[in-house]
Parts: sequence; C-alpha cells; structure tokens
Amino acid sequence: MRPPISFAGSPLDRENLRRRERAWLEAQQKSPESRYLPLWRLQPLLKRGDERALAWAKREFFEDIEGVPEPVLLGTRDGVAHFAIDVSSVERPDESFGIADVASFEDLRASVALLPAGDAAIAAQARSLVDWHARHGHCAVCGGHTRSVQGGANRVCFDCQAEHFPRTDPVAIAIVVHGDRCMLGRGPGWPETMFSALAGFVEAGENLEEAVRREVFEESGVRVGAVRYVCSQPWPFPSSLMIGCIGLAESEEIAIDHAELDDARWFTRDALRAALEGRRPDLSVPPPFAVAHHLIRAWVEGSLE
Ligand SMILES: [Zn+2]
Repeated sequence: MRPPISFAGSPLDRENLRRRERAWLEAQQKSPESRYLPLWRLQPLLKRGDERALAWAKREFFEDIEGVPEPVLLGTRDGVAHFAIDVSSVERPDESFGIADVASFEDLRASVALLPAGDAAIAAQARSLVDWHARHGHCAVCGGHTRSVQGGANRVCFDCQAEHFPRTDPVAIAIVVHGDRCMLGRGPGWPETMFSALAGFVEAGENLEEAVRREVFEESGVRVGAVRYVCSQPWPFPSSLMIGCIGLAESEEIAIDHAELDDARWFTRDALRAALEGRRPDLSVPPPFAVAHHLIRAWVEGSLE
C-alpha cells in the first residue's frame, strides 16, 4: 500500500459554518472537554515515548500565562473542539509547564515521520495558522491593530474593518520525463547524493502548467510541453500547497542556473528504483513525507503513463 501524503488527511471537521455563531464558539472555548494543542515557537507539543503523538492539554495549562493570544479553533472530532494555542511568550516551557517527563516541543519537519498521519495533518494546520496570526497583528491596508474572529478563521482590522484571511502559497513541483528517463535536480546546500523534483512558487498571472514550464526552463534549461497534475500536499513551512506534476520534456539538453541548482541529471527507472530502495549509496531521493518522493515513486512504478 502507498504511504499517505503527509500533512493531509486531518480527522477534524473544520466547522466553517458553526464557527460563525458566536454563542457556539464561546461554548467551545469554555467547555472543560475542549482540547488544546500548545505550540511553542511553532513547535507542537508531542508525547514522549516510543509512539509519538500530539499532546493535548486542557485550558488550565495556559490560563495563567501572560501574552498568550486567542486560541485558534482547528475543528471538532466526536463533538469535542480542538484548538491550537501559541505559548511562545513563555521563556522556558519545559520548566514552566512541568512537562519534561511526559512531553516536549518538537520541530514538526523533524518529527513528521514519527507521527500518526492524522496527527501530522492537525499539526500542519496548527503550525500554519499560529504562524499566520503571529505575523498579522497589524492591518496591511491601514496599519491598525487586527483581531482574530470566527475562532481564528480570519482577522479584522479595528480601525478600517478590512478583513484578512490566512494565505496558502501554491508551489509547482515537478518531475520532468523524456522517454524512459526522468530529470531531477540538486539544490544548493543539499547532501551530495540527494536529487529531487524541481519546484517554485506559482507567480501572479500564471497557471500551474505555465509555472512548471517556466520553473523547469529557468533552473535546468529544459523545455517542457505537456504538464499533468498528479497529487498535492499541504506544506506548513510556513503555509504552502505543493502541487505535484509530471512534465514531458521536449529535449534532454541541460543548462543549469547555478543560483538555483547545483546539479541536474537524467536518471533511468532502474537507478531511481535502486535509490528508493536504499541500494544506491551514491544516489538518494526525498523521504516519504515529501511529495517529491510520491512523484518519483509513481513514475518508477509506471503509474503515471
Ligand atoms: Zn485597517
């Protein structure tokens, strides 16, 4: 069975209709049943032990802390509200909360592979939203202060009433194929053996196919014709949507832009299959929590034709 796309597949109902009802939202905030995922400087709280999982807290956990912003409603599960709470104002959280024996704040990128899929998706939503709220205390229109509304679904300016919504930035990420070969690139600072799909932000006035063609040509000099969507992934660093594609090359000649790539090469299916199976010490591809891994694996298995 294929591994799931990491950071997707949250088990929570986002409650985008009920969160507009102030009375319902306040009842969830006051309910002793409600659960809170603390994040400290964008690191979610995880249970210690052999099986890592999100560590949910009760409201008492953070009630006495100064400088804690309003909790963000992530959604409900089995009728229980789940919130994210930003406790970054605490200097030494492990000591202050007395949790060092049972839980710890962890970098999400480093720990995603250890988490159950649903927990990783919840942590992704929490990380992106907490980061967005922390950066948007002021209105981009008039500079006034903003406040969180609808349980953190958006913010409204106190002064000019402008509404601001959390953004998601689309990133086109593509493997490029030509006949029986697939081109991958190696970015600056990557491990010597690592090759992956080429990626870049979709720019204004550009569709996904155009973004793939432009990005691949800028980075590698290879012209791409047809582009097909394969799968996508939320990427909460801080809030991208990776849109995975396969691009059909019109030529194989590579001319690298060294500001963007250190290397780009064409690989056979056998070479990439060996890399996926860990049989090539000189060649590695991204781990299963990255969408590039799914693209490469799908091509190697022949499921993209
Ligand atoms: Zn304003």
